[in-house]
Amino acid sequence: MKLKDLGEFNLIRQIASDLPSLKEGIVGIGDDCAVIPKSGSDEAWLISTDMLVEGVHFLTSKMSPVQLGAKVLIVNLSDIAAMGGSPRFCFLSMALPSDLEVSWIEDFFKGFRNICSLYDVLLLGGDTTHSLNGITLSVTIIGDAKITDIKKRSTAMPGDLIAVTATLGDSAAGLECLLKKNPSFDYLLNQHLAPKPYLAEGRFLAKEQSVHSMMDVSDGLASDLLRITESSNCKARIDLEKIPLSRELILFSEKEKVDPIEYAVCGGEDYCLIFTFEKRQLAELIASYSEKFRKPFYVIGEVLASDPTDTTMSRLKILYAEHGRVVSGERTEKFRGYDHFAKN
Ligand code: ADP
Ligand code: MG
Repeated sequence: MKLKDLGEFNLIRQIASDLPSLKEGIVGIGDDCAVIPKSGSDEAWLISTDMLVEGVHFLTSKMSPVQLGAKVLIVNLSDIAAMGGSPRFCFLSMALPSDLEVSWIEDFFKGFRNICSLYDVLLLGGDTTHSLNGITLSVTIIGDAKITDIKKRSTAMPGDLIAVTATLGDSAAGLECLLKKNPSFDYLLNQHLAPKPYLAEGRFLAKEQSVHSMMDVSDGLASDLLRITESSNCKARIDLEKIPLSRELILFSEKEKVDPIEYAVCGGEDYCLIFTFEKRQLAELIASYSEKFRKPFYVIGEVLASDPTDTTMSRLKILYAEHGRVVSGERTEKFRGYDHFAKN
């Protein structure tokens, strides 16, 4: 069997299935960060690592080194935000071709350092090595949080509402503008090139007991929500008409004659948060969140109980509905997020 037939998520499942069990309190593979309790404390370390590969995640012809230096850290900060934590330290590993201009590396570090100082993260080490083929960058981020605040993917409950903290699909459309040299959608381009980590929002939601589960949207709604339903052993319904779309994505879709919902459901790299919370707390939660952040979050669906008599993976699937009716067939078959090995 080839890796493209197995897929990224089955591979990770396979890796995870063959490991010794962990001591009480430690969370390993399966969430945005690993969790390691600090001894003698009510806090835990949050640790995550993410890699960016030239030609797969970025093109040096389309992204400045300053932007790349910022983004490689931001995508890691997003995983700390997803657990409700605060970033503290990082490690940076780089595989670089020997003919790379030193000025490129200096500019890369300008971007990296800007984000370190903006979010109070200290670079503690890393590794530097020679690459025969393009640039590979990997950041390991270390953050922390109060143990009782940490939000996992595995704790969504049937009846919870599902919400996101920002419009979806902008980064995917921005990438397309970048590749097609379409400069007329600055906002979309910027969402792709310079995403923001939702750290303050993550910490706020982490303090709310009514919030049951949380993760960041990195591979796209379809893929990421499936991670929540799988690890929480439930299903979900997404109400397509409730998905927040930016004005710019709608304009882009009209111009390009494409379906903006498809970008919102399948497109990755928005790096906003998706979370589930107790339905009866909706009014209170949206009021306190809007007051603090001067913007709302967006309810896009509901967590459903899985059918215990169903033994197939479809018991954990996502249903897509439009104005109360479940949509199926050709349209939703396309609703898949990003898998690094599948034939996307
Ligand atoms: P994210 O998109 O939040 O960075 P991923 O989908 O990349 O998360 O990873 C899902 C989980 O699988 C995480 O807990 C991650 O640590 C783990 N994981 C991914 N690749 C590997 C690997 N090669 N070995 C061990 N764990 C891995
Ligand atoms: Mg994540």
